Amino acid sequence: MNTVLYIVVPCYNEEAVLPETSRRLGLLMDDLTAKGEISPASRVLFVDDGSRDKTWSMIEALEDARFEGAKLAHNAGHQNAVWAGMTLACERNCDAVISLDADLQDDPEAIRGFLKAYREGCDVVYGVRKSRTTDTVFKRSTAEAFYKIMGACGAEVVNNHADYRLLSRRALEALLQFGEVNLFLRGMVPLLGFKSEKVYYDRAERFAGESKYPLKKMLSFAMDGITSFSVKPIRFITVLGILFALLGAAFGLYALVSLFTGHAVVGWTSTIMSIWLIGGVQLIAIGVIGEYIGKIYMETKRRPRFILETYHSKNSAPHK
Ligand code: UDP
Ligand code: MG
Repeated sequence: MNTVLYIVVPCYNEEAVLPETSRRLGLLMDDLTAKGEISPASRVLFVDDGSRDKTWSMIEALEDARFEGAKLAHNAGHQNAVWAGMTLACERNCDAVISLDADLQDDPEAIRGFLKAYREGCDVVYGVRKSRTTDTVFKRSTAEAFYKIMGACGAEVVNNHADYRLLSRRALEALLQFGEVNLFLRGMVPLLGFKSEKVYYDRAERFAGESKYPLKKMLSFAMDGITSFSVKPIRFITVLGILFALLGAAFGLYALVSLFTGHAVVGWTSTIMSIWLIGGVQLIAIGVIGEYIGKIYMETKRRPRFILETYHSKNSAPHK
């Protein structure tokens, strides 16, 4: 039996890259189908994440019947758009699903390697970029710092792997059971277990258009990643608290000794400094705890991760 592959492509204001992306994916699908590596029932599913430009009308106008589209009712964010695509692909009985950014930064040719690993029995195949030479120095260094912090917090992530990956049907079904609303897919997938493999590729420049991940979004994404997978930051605060209590006790002892030995100098500097220091530490502590409480608040609402407005397909019924 041939593999029914779904390639999920999240698109947010991607009118500039869509024609080229669909052309490249079409050619790749032709070749893979001709070689018998994927079934003719395989599809590319473009997920329009509430774009404000012509993205959706362009998806609807795509000639190729293998191209389908899902329009989300609002901008749910990259992770939720990928989740939506994977959910829909699962409902359409795919054997495997691949998520791929619309901007051609992740080389579609790596899909051949993904499929090879899949045929060899891997349920999870990670696309890992060989080098980050196409990224700015800033993006590269912040990304490195992020992976280090994640690692130190005990969350397992694959270095230099973004959201370009293949999941077999059973890995996909397992992933879709995860109930959290704050999605951080690259931290969730390693938790699945299953046999996995890495496939390396060169990450290109964005083909056209500009990044939909400004610094603000990136920072909040990193914060989500860290606080979704680890309670270590809270523990760190407890340790810090104990440390400061011990320091305080030592300082108190010193003050008492100075008092009794007659060296007591009423130190304005030390008083003011400790007020600032303790105040700062307390604020950080409250902030970190607040992050977790905020997360609990969001999770308890159990809001849907995406809302589907339309599904566009030239095929009458999904593959069974
Ligand atoms: N994206 C999305 N919803 C968003 C932001 C981005 O679906 O709210 C998509 C975007 O269209 C692209 C992918 O997520 O296919 C990655 O975004 P981008 O290339 O802008 O991020 P970068 O590569 O700069 O980190
Ligand atoms: Mg990109």
